[in-house]
Amino acid sequence: MMDLEQLRALALHGEPCAIIDQTALRQNLQLARTTASNSKILSVIKANAYGHGIVPVARALSDADAFGVARLKEALALRDAGIMHPIVLLEGVYSPHDLELCARLNLQPVVHSFEQLESLESWTSTVKLTVWCKIDTGMNRLGFGVDAFPAAWARLSRLSNVQQLIVMTHLADADDRQDLRTQTQLARFKQLTDSLSVERSVSNSAGLLAWQATHMEWVRPGLMLYGMSPFAD
Ligand SMILES: *Cc1c(COP(=O)(O)O)cnc(C)c1O
Repeated sequence: MMDLEQLRALALHGEPCAIIDQTALRQNLQLARTTASNSKILSVIKANAYGHGIVPVARALSDADAFGVARLKEALALRDAGIMHPIVLLEGVYSPHDLELCARLNLQPVVHSFEQLESLESWTSTVKLTVWCKIDTGMNRLGFGVDAFPAAWARLSRLSNVQQLIVMTHLADADDRQDLRTQTQLARFKQLTDSLSVERSVSNSAGLLAWQATHMEWVRPGLMLYGMSPFAD
């Protein structure tokens, strides 16, 4: 049975569309807040907010400290809709033009490769960026390897067009509450970053819910915001 909202959507747009339960989204964000009470929350709304519709979800999650998307295109859709939160581009960008756009729209790119680092080095600008640097501590996907990170960090630290650096990694196996690989990843991450006086981010939903030691300054929940369990079981 369709409710009034659905009937209205059908009348206005000619086809039924997913109705977002804004209250549930807000409650899930609140759960993230109370679980990681000392952390700021980057709500991950990539992939069209996991299929739920990026703009309505961002509106419902306006209490987030920042949003995370994969691509520039998604960030532009949010800015076009008037959403003003800081937005982290989880896959980063590759050209000085895109960096300039980031600086002007308060988008914060993740740098995870030397190629992206080089484009930052070749970008001359008077506007400054906040940049997230990703370390690959075991996900084996994106990020500077443990051996490469110190050199990459030294180069990032020298850039005059960067106003703030944040360091992050992504957990591969936090969905298994017993998995020792999460502890290994965390130990590697801490070893590389304990001496840096910058904000840090490790937790996805599973890390947030099951691995308190991964909370740090920023948590990055995705799945749990949509009411999906991040756990294997
Ligand atoms: C997708 C993603 C997240 C969110 O992960 P969930 O398992 O959905 O909570 C966090 N960080 C990064 C870098 C991501 O790509």
